[in-house]
Amino acid sequence: MLEDFTFDKLDSSRPIALFLDIDGTLVEFAATPDEVIVPPMLRPLLERLASDLHGAFAIITGRPIESADRLFRPTQFTMAGLHGGEFRFNGVHEDVPAAYAPRAWKDAAKALADANPGVAYEEKRLGFSVHYREAPEKAALVTEAIETAMQKDNPGLHLLHANMALEIRPDGIDKGHAIRHFMQMPQFAGRMPVFFGDDTTDDDGFRVLKDYGGVGVVVGHRRPPEALYTVKDPATIRVLLSELKPAA
Ligand SMILES: [Mg+2]
Repeated sequence: MLEDFTFDKLDSSRPIALFLDIDGTLVEFAATPDEVIVPPMLRPLLERLASDLHGAFAIITGRPIESADRLFRPTQFTMAGLHGGEFRFNGVHEDVPAAYAPRAWKDAAKALADANPGVAYEEKRLGFSVHYREAPEKAALVTEAIETAMQKDNPGLHLLHANMALEIRPDGIDKGHAIRHFMQMPQFAGRMPVFFGDDTTDDDGFRVLKDYGGVGVVVGHRRPPEALYTVKDPATIRVLLSELKPAA
């Protein structure tokens, strides 16, 4: 049983660093990643927080940075995209070198999406995702097809079961690595990281927080052992964030 999160439950003597997932955390899920609805208050709210926290603020998403930027145009937040496969910090973009998904796997996934209405293929620089939110009954079929394609020659990638989606990702790249990357930066170092996420891919992030005395907050109904607190839904997080007035 996790306690409901509020910011006043944190040790107020330590300044925080804020890490935020997007989908299912800041915004409600939509049928496809491009269809999410970003409330008009969200971008100015995040801008204020980034400023109040003196830059100890980062978005940690599975989306490519380019896709996340479309939600917050024209602001370019400090961000890890592709679960830490790419970073933007101080306006500089950095790609993390990693194994690429073989063409044959991507072709198999695209063919699967074409043949099954409600199944969607999403290209990512270091891998790909197959979404089945619109066709949950296809979960087993999709999983089996992708696993079969992956059995032949695996160049250092793994399959991750995300929320109504499969993610094919390079080994050694995850949200935990992404948070560690930022915690080395001067804006973040020494602060208490607070990370909000909803999905299994966020558990890697929750797991590294204890090394920094940080706090993981899981959104929704999952109860991963690494999280300390819970928040019901994205709307509640937006309220909590808008009430947050970080001390310098
Ligand atoms: Mg999410």
